[in-house]
Amino acid sequence: MSPDIDSEYSVVAIDGPAASGKSTVARKLAKRLGFSYVNSGGLYRAVAWLAGEHELRPDDWSAVSAQVRKSVFNFYLRNKELSFLIDGNNPDTHLRDEKVNRTVSAISAIPEVREFLVAHLREFLTWDNLVMEGRDIGSIVFPDTPYKFYIDASLEVRAQRRAAQGQRDDLFFRDRADASRRASPLTIAEDAHVIDSSSLTIDGVVGEIIGRLKIKRLPEALGLDS
Ligand code: C5P
Repeated sequence: MSPDIDSEYSVVAIDGPAASGKSTVARKLAKRLGFSYVNSGGLYRAVAWLAGEHELRPDDWSAVSAQVRKSVFNFYLRNKELSFLIDGNNPDTHLRDEKVNRTVSAISAIPEVREFLVAHLREFLTWDNLVMEGRDIGSIVFPDTPYKFYIDASLEVRAQRRAAQGQRDDLFFRDRADASRRASPLTIAEDAHVIDSSSLTIDGVVGEIIGRLKIKRLPEALGLDS
């Protein structure tokens, strides 16, 4: 799939499995670079929430797709972070609900949902420089960006991190579903720089990314300490 994006802006792609620490890293990195931060998982979670609100089964692909087409999505940047409303509602406080954790992988396997969201994710690059995190950002959404990272951590470390956040989330189930679906499965882009964050601090991971961005001559990284 060719994204065919015509933009003056740069995007740093950060992919990885659930609870690998990528959200904290991506948000911090965006602040340091002065880029806007986009958590693409939030959009898939929002569609899972929307389906739940309309009592649609996540495996009913045509009903979920029809609801996505019918609903009005408003996307905007607030304090350099992507925010959105769906039919005038802000679903933010529901995005980490246990029900959403349980259904989001099935929802994100629906090709029409992915097409819809990927088109928007690409459009955001016409607004600002971005740090965007997800599962397929380096492989599908922005395959041409030279700035790609894949953050991993052992299943034990990731489960501990989720538990510390007080969340019930079956990571093993989500990872398996995300990596085995037909449409844009979780993969490591060939040219991604892989970082195992199991024994690194957040600042350690951010520093490693900035070091790499300097090597790649991203202008906004050149003056920063790594
Ligand atoms: O990143 P987070 O764990 O919040 O993502 C929630 C879910 O959204 C993932 O388990 C995956 O099913 C889906 N997702 C995706 N593609 C992305 C980002 C998230 O399929 N780029």
